[in-house]
Amino acid sequence: MHAYTAPLRLRLNGDALMSNWRWLAAMSGGAACGAAIKANGYGLGAAEVMRRLMQAGCRDFFVSNWGEAAAVEPLLEDGVSLSVLHGVRDEDMAQALGSRARPVLCTPGQIARWRAAGGGACDVMIDTGMNRLGLDWRGDVAAAVEGLEIVTLLSHLASADEEVGFNATQLERFTVLRSQISVQRYSLANSAGICLGGDYHFDLTRPGLALYGGIPRDAAAGHIRPVVQPQAQIVQRRLLLAGDSIGYNTSFTAQRDHEVAILNLGYADGYLRGFSGRGAAIVNGAKLPVLGRVSMDLLAVDVSAQPDVAEGDWIDIAYDLGEASAASGLSPYELLTGLGARYDRVWD
Ligand SMILES: *Cc1c(COP(=O)(O)O)cnc(C)c1O
Repeated sequence: MHAYTAPLRLRLNGDALMSNWRWLAAMSGGAACGAAIKANGYGLGAAEVMRRLMQAGCRDFFVSNWGEAAAVEPLLEDGVSLSVLHGVRDEDMAQALGSRARPVLCTPGQIARWRAAGGGACDVMIDTGMNRLGLDWRGDVAAAVEGLEIVTLLSHLASADEEVGFNATQLERFTVLRSQISVQRYSLANSAGICLGGDYHFDLTRPGLALYGGIPRDAAAGHIRPVVQPQAQIVQRRLLLAGDSIGYNTSFTAQRDHEVAILNLGYADGYLRGFSGRGAAIVNGAKLPVLGRVSMDLLAVDVSAQPDVAEGDWIDIAYDLGEASAASGLSPYELLTGLGARYDRVWD
């Protein structure tokens, strides 16, 4: 039996991941700094992310659902907490009652379900204006959560990455709720919210994006390090003569002769068609533009200026989250969480 190695991989920088968490923890001041590891650790691999962040000192993790919780629960060290952001459905109850993870109860129905089962420790999400998940801040929240064994009361900012008055509005609503409902800890800020300053930190922050190299606000630039570098192997090198076209729908036609490398990477790997004619690979610091349309499993880059690049060589894909986002129209969140299952995930 040979271990299969894929023709595409993510080089993942564990030092950068831990350094990003340490910076976010320092920026969180007196608040504990947790980590959102939902969506398979934003595409990097939740278990590997969690192991490294626990080593860095992180003690609070957030996933979306109980499938994600089951995947990392066996790794939980003593004193480390795991919260499930979407709460509990009927279908989750058997698992939830036997789990160390806590549901973040979001609806009156979830609260009733948890109470009826004598569920024990839980978290509660309050909606302070995003109108996505949580108990409506305008309701009698104190009465709704009466008798629950709440560890953390949470709310979530809609526009923390923007300079808008709505941040202060949500902060004020959450601050009022805090004075009315007594729990162990209060938590409001995601990555961008951490950069909004001490008023937003409360007892626990919940960064996701910035851990993985995304710059949520200008204040993080120069401090947050890239973590993810996609690489693909060259399947074939070929000559494109002036007048030839390349790829589906012949969207690129050569005006001169080109040398082209066909790479083992496509939209099925999260490198979506928005990169067609706009993305790039990088060799020796030089940018090699993507020519024509990205296919499901393949794409073409111009290697005319790279005579030494050959079949079987590994090539870096330009994936600076800011630049790749501008090129493709995808958000940094989509660029990370879309990274597919075919990559080998290799931690440095
Ligand atoms: C995803 C998520 C986070 C992390 O947000 P980032 O913008 O990635 O830092 C924090 N809190 C909640 C409730 C979330 O759903």
